[in-house]
Amino acid sequence: MKILVLNCGSSSLKYQLFAMEQEQVLAKGLVEKIGLADAIITHKTGDGQKIVNQTAIPDHAKAIELVLAALTDKNHGVISSMKEIDAVGHRTVHGGTTYAKSVLIDDKVVAELKRLIKLAPLHNPPGILGIEACEKIMPGVPMVAVFDTSFHQTMPAKSYIYGIPYEYYEKYGVRRYGFHGTSHRFVAQRMAELLGKPFDDCKIITCHLGNGSSIAAIENGKVVDTSMGFTPLEGLMMGTRCGNIDPAIIPFLMEEETMDIPAINAMMNKKSGLLGISGISSDMRDIEQAAAQGNERAQLALDIFHHNVIKTVGGYIALMNGVDGIAFTAGIGENGPATRKLVCEQFAYAGLQFDAAANQCRGKEVEISKPGSKIRAFVVPTDEELMIARDTKALASK
Ligand code: ADP
Repeated sequence: MKILVLNCGSSSLKYQLFAMEQEQVLAKGLVEKIGLADAIITHKTGDGQKIVNQTAIPDHAKAIELVLAALTDKNHGVISSMKEIDAVGHRTVHGGTTYAKSVLIDDKVVAELKRLIKLAPLHNPPGILGIEACEKIMPGVPMVAVFDTSFHQTMPAKSYIYGIPYEYYEKYGVRRYGFHGTSHRFVAQRMAELLGKPFDDCKIITCHLGNGSSIAAIENGKVVDTSMGFTPLEGLMMGTRCGNIDPAIIPFLMEEETMDIPAINAMMNKKSGLLGISGISSDMRDIEQAAAQGNERAQLALDIFHHNVIKTVGGYIALMNGVDGIAFTAGIGENGPATRKLVCEQFAYAGLQFDAAANQCRGKEVEISKPGSKIRAFVVPTDEELMIARDTKALASK
């Protein structure tokens, strides 16, 4: 069975084609600058060939046509015809409270995704464009929507209701949704395998630390709490996002700086976090390097980042009354030994015996706790595309 996974952004599209028998990636790539005359498609085959093509790509439909052309190309193609694609999985950001699981897409689902645009105005529209373009180009091929929010729908109300008048939850759905759910689910399921326990019988904390960062506490297969909220702005301080701040800061600054809503939103989403504090970069590598060279603001940004992660992990251990394993994933989690060390060493008191030598690794699955450690810690590279492909296979085969 061959499955195409699509992840549509407003001006970009990432894709991977899987052969599901061995869960093998046959080809993958990226279309950038959709809507512009100098758009770029970068296509990589499973055997390492890379083809880059620059051309005008007016919309997502044209982008998908070019992806299909690259996949079926006479020279570097990996399938002979589009008909070999059995199903398409779409990464979809927001499923609201409607979708607690992935779903086979039909007209009703598309209508519901349109209704949910209000909750994810930046992210759901490009996903819908991708779905509609596929329906046109590949009619009859089963399609599945896999949501960033759905895993977190297992949270109890005490974790997702905010301390504001209840009517706003009822009227507008203002509540914690949580994001990166596909990654947290993939990593948590893998953690259960590594711990040698059934997924529905363990306590796991997954730290997805990248440009966007979130942490989830998972007990007996269900999310107990997660750090992102109504939007992906809440929780940890991130590359350019502020994470948790006193909400009273917002009206204060709007008044003092005469900022309007777009300006305050841009400040919190694009100018804050590691970038806002250090004044030099949103990228962890730059921050670590500058701090090592004595840049005090970079060091402060680093300290705040670690402080936030430790506080959240510690809180989640308390909520679950313990934890069996802590997983680190995404750009910083997979590649940043310094962050992992600072976090893990903090939980020595709770029984995490950190293995500093094993921690000197980047981008691969490794246990970073010592044999016999009461709390175990692992680096688990995330694979959201594979998770989407698995869900798509399961639903499309029904
Ligand atoms: P996104 O949220 O955009 O998917 P990623 O998961 O790709 O982000 O993570 C990007 C982050 O990972 C950046 O802050 C980058 O600096 C960090 N990162 C990548 N490699 C390393 C490394 N070797 N050491 C520390 N941080 C790293």
